[in-house]
Amino acid sequence: MGDKWIRATIFGGYGRVVAAVTTELVGELQRRHQTWPTATAALGRTATVGAMMASFMKDEERLTLQIRGDGPLGGITVDADTTGRVRGYVQNPKVHLPPNALGKLDVGGAVGSGSLYVMRDMGMKDFYKGSVELQTGEIGDDFTYYFAVSEQTPSAVAAGVLVNTDNSVIAAGGFIAQLLPLATDEHAVQLEERIKSITSVTDLLTSGVDAQGLIRLLDKEAASFSSGDIRFECTCSRERLRGVLKSLGQAEVEAMLDADNGAQLICHYCNSSYDFTAEDLEDILLELRGGEH
Ligand SMILES: [Zn+2]
Repeated sequence: MGDKWIRATIFGGYGRVVAAVTTELVGELQRRHQTWPTATAALGRTATVGAMMASFMKDEERLTLQIRGDGPLGGITVDADTTGRVRGYVQNPKVHLPPNALGKLDVGGAVGSGSLYVMRDMGMKDFYKGSVELQTGEIGDDFTYYFAVSEQTPSAVAAGVLVNTDNSVIAAGGFIAQLLPLATDEHAVQLEERIKSITSVTDLLTSGVDAQGLIRLLDKEAASFSSGDIRFECTCSRERLRGVLKSLGQAEVEAMLDADNGAQLICHYCNSSYDFTAEDLEDILLELRGGEH
């Protein structure tokens, strides 16, 4: 069964929720980047939030999330779009810390203090960028704070990743529940109580609860369901990486030709490598010298 997001309205239209199962996506991220458990959880939670936030966007919009902390992970970057494509990477994939006081993967310790950035590319004319200080580095808390401060939307964000002893991913998923502008204090109290009753998203997922089941736990009477697929997919290509090489300029490409007799570029997002031979580089130099292309 593939990964999915499911959206619904809750509290008779005074709130909305998106829930997602992202086990395959996070598993693919783990395999491609060979992340260790704490890094897998940090990247996987961020990718899960990205997939869910993208479900609220329109048409050609693209979303980039960045977590920049001073912990051993370095930075986390995730891209997502409205077709359900998600990709991402963590600066230092080989990070695993002892469990935190709750006996859980210490994502907050691995992320450290810093900031969270949300960038939304809305096509030709519009670009949105918001940022907030990281609260705990546990990702869910940090996005909850982001929605409250940057988008003035009271929200609860949960994202979880369960990792096996062989580093593979057993389960991943989460939800974002939001109160809409006309919601009352009573709705806020109600939502808070429901959220408190959900102690672990991954425990629920492994016990057989799906995205729709998560939504029902928040509101038995949730309505207006819609859904979409989520999948790992990178937009890189040989042509695109060739463009990157060319943009480095003549001197740089000549230096690569002299030193290595070729070049290898690796896409950060998917870890695919692209080899360019001496002949490829000479072609690029011809174009650069010609200045016409
Ligand atoms: Zn790629």
